[in-house]
Amino acid sequence: MLSPQYEQMLQGKSVIRMLSEFARDRGRKIGYENVFDFSLGNPSVPVPDSFTESMIRLLQEKQPMELHGYSPSLGIYSVRKAVAASLSKRFAIPYVAEDIFMTSAAAGAIAHALRAVTVPGEEVLTFAPYFPEYGPYVAGTGDVLKVVPADTETFQINFKAFEEMLTHKVAAILINSPNNPTGIVYSEETLQKLAAICREKEETYGHTIFIISDEPYREIVFDGRKAPLIGNYYEHSIMCYSFSKSLSIPGERIGYLAVNPACKDAEKIVNMCGQISRGTGHNCPPSIIQLAMAENLDTTADISVYETNRNLLYDALIDLGFTVVKPGGTFYIFPKALEEDAVAFCQKAKNYDLILVPADSFGCPGYFRMAYCIDTEKVQRAIPVLRRFVETEYPDRNAK
Ligand code: PLP
Repeated sequence: MLSPQYEQMLQGKSVIRMLSEFARDRGRKIGYENVFDFSLGNPSVPVPDSFTESMIRLLQEKQPMELHGYSPSLGIYSVRKAVAASLSKRFAIPYVAEDIFMTSAAAGAIAHALRAVTVPGEEVLTFAPYFPEYGPYVAGTGDVLKVVPADTETFQINFKAFEEMLTHKVAAILINSPNNPTGIVYSEETLQKLAAICREKEETYGHTIFIISDEPYREIVFDGRKAPLIGNYYEHSIMCYSFSKSLSIPGERIGYLAVNPACKDAEKIVNMCGQISRGTGHNCPPSIIQLAMAENLDTTADISVYETNRNLLYDALIDLGFTVVKPGGTFYIFPKALEEDAVAFCQKAKNYDLILVPADSFGCPGYFRMAYCIDTEKVQRAIPVLRRFVETEYPDRNAK
């Protein structure tokens, strides 16, 4: 018998994927350069030369089995040690190798973190708008995903709704800052308040509440700022990191899970992740990728283009009369649609070859996401098209 659960999922194809396929089809007809495709969060800048050089040197110098053999189930020890040292130096949290588990990027890290600290049937809270893949990530564990409504003024946390939803059934909270889809970076104040509430509820309920922090955009922050880390405020926290976006290597599937060393079960959780892998068929990322990544821990691709694109789009959107909170990082921006139904809004935009993603599947109807991980030249050409679209379709809006 076919699995009814997965068979049913075939009906719920990702809106983002469908729009991206539409953009490609349209590109075949009119030339992809004429399609303003803001659908997919695929990094647009090349991998740094240093990563390519590491790969070449490793292939030339190392023994084949060291590069192509099985990795230990928790990851290569020297790599885990290098990750821990880099994190300790940068964030003043005393990680050691035993706190680190190597994963297939953030998706792999979240899958392990959720399984390690929840029991099927328990609740996992996340905050709208959220990355739609959290649905299947949590469903796959047998947990129940509950979504805290957005604070649309700031896209920080809606604490009133959060406190109401933080019942004794909640085992973990899944946060994402810098955020996909809003581009918002949680402030220190937000993280401190989140930590204080969780600590108080841990006392009341007499059990641990884990914060699982999904951080693939940690390095993509603008205006010379840094993204504050929950690990600096809350001991029961697990960082899920990915090099997909910072090194522009999403196809290499490399990241890690780092359990806060202040958490008394840190080493046990990491060892449990090795056991979780046995059941999920996940085996550590390829050895060669772990080794090349370990030589590039404190490097990023040239991500400055994302800030340039953010500035261009934010100014243009404000000028055109959109309501939008300025992103502090990532390569996404999240304006309010010019009509209540964002699906209808994005459908109309398609007639102008503007591919925008309605935010219904992010848990925030009425908004849309633009992924601006595309060439700046294309962003510049998109702005007059955006202007033509809104001036034609929404002549009564309040433009500047
Ligand atoms: N989390 C968020 C918020 C994302 O945007 C993505 C990818 O776009 C992921 C997790 C998964 O990324 P990866 O598994 O490539 O690290």
